[in-house]
Amino acid sequence: MDQTLFCDAALLPGGWARRVRLSWRDGVFVAVAAGVRAAADEARTALAVPGLGNVHSHAFQRAMAGLAERRGAGEDSFWTWREVMYRFLARLGPDDVAAVAAQAYAEMLETGFTRVGEFHYLHHDPAGRPYANLAAMAEAVVAGACASGIGLTLLPCFYAQGGFDAAPPSPGQARFLTTPDGFAALLAASRQALRAVPGAVLGVAPHSLRAVTEAQLRAVLALRGAGPVHIHAAEQVAEVEACLAATGQRPVEWLLNQGFIDAAWCVVHATHMTRAETLALAGTGATAGFCPITEASLGDGVAPVPEFLASGGRFGIGTDSNVQIDAAGELRQLEYAQRLALRRRNVLAGAAASSTGMRLFQAALDGGARALGSGPAGFVAGAVADIVTLDATHPALVGKTEDEVLDSLIFGASRPVVAEVWCRGRQRVRGGRHVDGEAIGAAYARALRRLLT
Ligand SMILES: [Zn+2]
Repeated sequence: MDQTLFCDAALLPGGWARRVRLSWRDGVFVAVAAGVRAAADEARTALAVPGLGNVHSHAFQRAMAGLAERRGAGEDSFWTWREVMYRFLARLGPDDVAAVAAQAYAEMLETGFTRVGEFHYLHHDPAGRPYANLAAMAEAVVAGACASGIGLTLLPCFYAQGGFDAAPPSPGQARFLTTPDGFAALLAASRQALRAVPGAVLGVAPHSLRAVTEAQLRAVLALRGAGPVHIHAAEQVAEVEACLAATGQRPVEWLLNQGFIDAAWCVVHATHMTRAETLALAGTGATAGFCPITEASLGDGVAPVPEFLASGGRFGIGTDSNVQIDAAGELRQLEYAQRLALRRRNVLAGAAASSTGMRLFQAALDGGARALGSGPAGFVAGAVADIVTLDATHPALVGKTEDEVLDSLIFGASRPVVAEVWCRGRQRVRGGRHVDGEAIGAAYARALRRLLT
């Protein structure tokens, strides 16, 4: 039988509509009707928006949030943060990853993300040996997704070298490394692990140009199937300089010149691009995976987002290091970084008089679905029934209508606004909390006590 939710107002692809009935069956919308009357016994909400895709997550890093905020001997950077991360992950086993992922994903759901792209590179045991079950770690990610109920796009990562010009990997990278043949086996095992997850998508993720050779990249792309391709690119100035030294080209420029990038690609970060790279990347139809809170946390830099959007570029947002998990906060930071850099307001709003919140939300919704290979997004028949309702009595939302709701959600709320979340038609968040939040939180606390002592 169909399930329904009657919404006093809901965000449809064409904008806000009143008196909307969302109907779904087996996790997929079968009808979306506006201007209808509520039935007497029908489930009802004031404000509903579609769930967003989180295009870039390393779930295990949630457990090290707050552990890398102490200055080292020299100048701290992404690279010193990475050393802290390598030391931390040396202790993580599959059970820890499952517990941490469940916690991270429950928090994602509580802020309005309904699908996550897990860029998964922690494949082997702490000594760098493959587990007897090749997909032990992928199964831990799957377990976390199943415990939370979030939609999963798994992106097994290919990582083969420590830097450009075949630099040897560091001991901290031993858990990530595979050959192309090993990666093919890992991918097959991951596909098997995903059979337990309704609507799961499998992609491939060559880690970055510093971690793969051109031949390896071609071998990985030959395995891609129908899923998306994700890669870290142009996050750090040092990475761009090393790429220039090794190839004579910048990372995004090199990928474009090889003709690799198409609409199924997600170029994660895309922070340091020339104007020519920015326009050309926009023209490929690929998604830029901006991770504004992590990029601020790591001191990465500010991406040329206004130029990219003006050229028709698509973007999704990712929580990356999961130092904070906040869908609205990512969109706010994306805009605020531009305001600080350009000393202007409403930089990403687009046309005059248009709402910044609306533009950011719609773009992240469409770009997220494309980058995660999850099919049509939003409240339309045929799309996955991912629904987020907002607390209309929240001080930030009282008296607000239509685009003001999105502007207030993103820019005006100092505590969470999300009330309920349905993921693939099943309710996972009630009263702002994940329905299994207590058990998931207790398992996370046990894992963290083990890891931090
Ligand atoms: Zn990343």
